[in-house]
Amino acid sequence: LGALRWHFLLQSLEDLQKNLCQLGSCLLVIQGEYERVLRDHIQKWNITQVTLDAEMEPFYKEMEANIRRLGEELGFEVLSLVGHSLYDTKRILDLNGGTPPLTYKRFLHILSLLGDPEVPVRNLTAEDFQRCRPPDPGLAECYRVPLPVDLEIPLESLSPWRGGETEGLQRLEQHLTDQGWVTSFTKPRTIPNSLLPSTTGLSPYFSTGCLSVRTFFYRLSNIYAQAKHHSLPPVSLQGQLLWREFFYTVASATPNFTKMAGNPICLQINWYEDAERLHKWKTAQTGFPWIDAIMTQLRQEGWIHHLARHAVACFLTRGDLWISWEEGMKVFEELLLDADYSINAGNWMWLSASAFFHQYTRIFCPVRFGKRTDPEGQYIRKYLPVLKNFPSKYIYEPWTASE
Ligand code: FAD
Repeated sequence: LGALRWHFLLQSLEDLQKNLCQLGSCLLVIQGEYERVLRDHIQKWNITQVTLDAEMEPFYKEMEANIRRLGEELGFEVLSLVGHSLYDTKRILDLNGGTPPLTYKRFLHILSLLGDPEVPVRNLTAEDFQRCRPPDPGLAECYRVPLPVDLEIPLESLSPWRGGETEGLQRLEQHLTDQGWVTSFTKPRTIPNSLLPSTTGLSPYFSTGCLSVRTFFYRLSNIYAQAKHHSLPPVSLQGQLLWREFFYTVASATPNFTKMAGNPICLQINWYEDAERLHKWKTAQTGFPWIDAIMTQLRQEGWIHHLARHAVACFLTRGDLWISWEEGMKVFEELLLDADYSINAGNWMWLSASAFFHQYTRIFCPVRFGKRTDPEGQYIRKYLPVLKNFPSKYIYEPWTASE
């Protein structure tokens, strides 16, 4: 976890704590390795049930199995709930004969057999907490949400994105008030280099569990139901959520999903190993302003537009540097606020033409791609102030300017 995401996560916990307080409850954050934490607290606090989010990531699958074993040993019940995705991916796999559907079209077909996703869990109210006695204030202080300094997280790396359900809901409401924008949303027509996000910017909130994807899905369904026309998957907003499901489904049934070796859906390619070029890409020093501006936004803010991700991923892999997608994925994992095991690896395989898509000759030009939607280079001027006063004519390829 990179510093930006740590801050985002702590802000999200702080917000959750505040919201729970308002409902007469409280959040206790226990730090430590999970087995030790459970062993120490189960008897002490008379815990009879442990609930957790069902996840596709091998680390969490193993954690769940370990917690179940502990439950048998220590006598607590384990409740694992599918809350992070719209569907239970196991049901999709079953309908596809136990294997993951490898195209979006096939995936949509399977979903049509399943019907709509489960409805969102209703919001908790103060009544839900009536049975829970608020813990004594001493306990709350002892198990408060840690501060960045407690965890030695550098204070200077702070993203302008603020974590928390409150912020996520505000962002959601803001977008949903513009129903015309929602119904006509067409992903490829959104702009990668706008100075404010041209898509919803909800991914960090979904990724850390601040917002429910089901809430978003059903709010969209309601808007679509009232509209004469609306865009459709794969390019609509609901279509974006289904891409997320698609990658979760494939990841949940593919061994070594985040690696090339031993990954049955991934082309085996002799990528170059070049630590220096990789470092230059990561630290925004390639010399291509469009690529370096994107990498700077990523490093400073932790979020970049989908097509900007396309640009830098293509540049690192099949486009220019011929460096393995695994290296790029690791950098994204460290820097993205929305870093996600399944979605990150899935998209990196896609962009490097290693899986799902194989037209490796269709590359994004590091000069012309950004120019199309931002000919004056305002985005570059913002993120690379060294070029702030550069003539627009040369800003995408400064090496063509006179000395
Ligand atoms: P919107 O366009 O508003 O879409 C709404 C939601 O749909 C998003 O919040 C997200 O949850 C989901 N979504 C949108 N596009 C995709 C997609 N292509 N695949 C899966 N889900 C999608 N997204 C992550 O959440 N985590 C990652 O680690 C991640 N890594 C990526 C790596 C690469 C190389 C690429 C090309 C894309 C990656 N994406 C990742 C997908 C996508 O770029 C982001 O989800 C999207 O840009 C988030 O912005 P948004 O919330 O404004 O999206």
